[in-house]
Amino acid sequence: MSELITGSCNCGRHTYTIPKPTEMNLCHCIDCRKWAGAMHSAHLFVKTADIQTSSPKPKTYTQNGDSGNPMERAWCDDCGCGIWIRSPANMPELTFLKAGLFNPGEIPNPTMENWLKNLEAWETPAKGTKRAVDLN
Ligand SMILES: [Zn+2]
Ligand SMILES: [Zn+2]
Repeated sequence: MSELITGSCNCGRHTYTIPKPTEMNLCHCIDCRKWAGAMHSAHLFVKTADIQTSSPKPKTYTQNGDSGNPMERAWCDDCGCGIWIRSPANMPELTFLKAGLFNPGEIPNPTMENWLKNLEAWETPAKGTKRAVDLN
């Protein structure tokens, strides 16, 4: 059985236990910038079926991503923390959990990075990541 890690939003209403992931994505798309309130959003790739939680369903907002697929974004409506993104049309079995919900030291190195064309002049891509080709 793989090692488990547990993360939560700031108020603890939304708490998730998952197998320690090996993949993390840094997404620099415009939607993720706004969502993160930062230059990128960091996501752990987790099979939705592997997530253990007794938390209520979080509040969600759905908008079409640049791919044209609907992207569902969830957050805690008590404390405001972003929780996850899902792409039900494209990757229905996966949840992209916000990496920052988990403790320092538990997060793998970034393995994939996309929308690098949106990097600010002062940013550098993370070391050793696969680079997804921008869509336009
Ligand atoms: Zn919360
Ligand atoms: Zn994104």
